[in-house]
This record gives sequence, structure tokens and C-alpha cells, in this order.
Amino acid sequence: MTHQPRTAEKVIKSLSISDPGAIDLEAIAWLSGAKVKYRELDGCDACIAGRADVGRAIISIDSRSMARRQRFSLAHEIGHWEWHRGHQLMCSKDDIGGSGKSRGLSKEAAANRFAAELLMPKFMLKDAIRDFDRLNMRTVREMATHFDVSLTAMAYRLVESDFHPSLLLAYGKDGRRWFIRSKSIDEKWFPKNTLDRESSAYSILFEGAEDDGHMSTIDGDTWFDVGWADQVELGEQSFRTQDDEVVTLLVARSDRMLAD
Ligand SMILES: [Zn+2]
Repeated sequence: MTHQPRTAEKVIKSLSISDPGAIDLEAIAWLSGAKVKYRELDGCDACIAGRADVGRAIISIDSRSMARRQRFSLAHEIGHWEWHRGHQLMCSKDDIGGSGKSRGLSKEAAANRFAAELLMPKFMLKDAIRDFDRLNMRTVREMATHFDVSLTAMAYRLVESDFHPSLLLAYGKDGRRWFIRSKSIDEKWFPKNTLDRESSAYSILFEGAEDDGHMSTIDGDTWFDVGWADQVELGEQSFRTQDDEVVTLLVARSDRMLAD
């Protein structure tokens, strides 16, 4: 029988999973014929070796990674097994991620999309976000704990899901690395290439300041070159993800940023 690839939502629904705590990835892998092993890996964060003809695979996860990282990696490999069955894949740190680095049309991007949808199914997100009246990093942190994913993965998913018009941006010392914008925000709001000294993200990245404890209000011209950007206000909250990277959540506070 030929295997029919399933979306993450289909996998979740077929098992009647209705709560994030019940998303047992090892069980999901096992039920689709993949066994999971945790060991020290060289040269990749996770990999899969499987045979499409017999429908069996071994997924290996680097046991030295952080727990939530391992969880995202496993969901990513389950995505490969669903969609790229029979391919032997070695996935690096850059391949696997809840961030914008490997988005697009590649196999890695497809596996990341699958992982995000498997770990944070839309219908569960919608339900959980009702408990929060605003989007800030406290909301992201509580949602991330509830779904057992990283802050970046959750922030990315919330911005992409457009519950609140917002953007998520990552900067290194050499400038912008990636960003994502809710669909409801007009495309002219394209973030600057480098961090403005007025932003707290700048202080965190270049001056060793601590992560923002709360969301502050800032004028739009700190982040955008749009001519009248100083007339709109945004909520801004930043956190460090690595030594050399800061991620910022921007939440629109003005309808003037919305697409027509
Ligand atoms: Zn991969």
C-alpha cells in the first residue's frame, strides 16, 4: 500500500488529541512506524533513516540538545517521515527551527511547518489564546509552557496566526536575520536593516542589557522607514536567544498599520 502523506492537523485529529499535554511525539512516531533514539550525534541535530517499502524508520535525536529543542526536532523528523518517506536526511541546527531561517519551499521548510502545526495545532492555539487579552512576552511565555515549545517557536506561531497584528524580528550584530509579519499588517511596514539605538533590542544585543521585563511603547520610526512612522505607536519587547542574536516582538497599537 502506498503511503499517503498527512498534514499535522490530520495526524492530531486521527488520534483524537484535544489537549497540548496529550501530544506524545514518541507515540505518534511509533504509530506511523518510526522508532525514536536519543544519542549524541555528530554533524546534525536530528536525522532519519527509513525504508518506504517496509514503512519503518529510525529517528535519531541529539541527546545533548535542550529538551524543547529535542521536541521540535522530533516533530520535524516526523514531518519528514510523513512527507519525504524513504529519504535519508541529516538535519542541522539551521535546518530545524521554529524561526524564519528555513522557511520557504524546501523539504526542511516543509518539515518545520509540519512541526509547528503538530506541536501548536491551530484549534488548540485559538482556544488557549482566549485566556489572554493582549499579546506580549508574558503571554508568549505562558503559551510556550502550555505547549512545551521554545519562546521563539511560540512567538512565531502567534504572529503568523494573526490573533493580534504583530511582527517578530531577529537581529544579529550584522543586522536583520529574519522577520515575520501578521497578514493583517500592511506590507509597507518592512523593518529596518539594522537596529536603531533607541530600541531596547539594541541595548540587549550591544550593551549587554537584560531581556525586557515588560512591553514598552515606542514610536514606529524606531523600527520602520515609512515617512509618517513617527505617528504610530507599537508595543516592543525583546529577548536574547543566543550570545549574538536578539528577537523582538512588536505589536501594532494603531489601525493605521493595518492593510486595507
Ligand atoms: Zn530536516
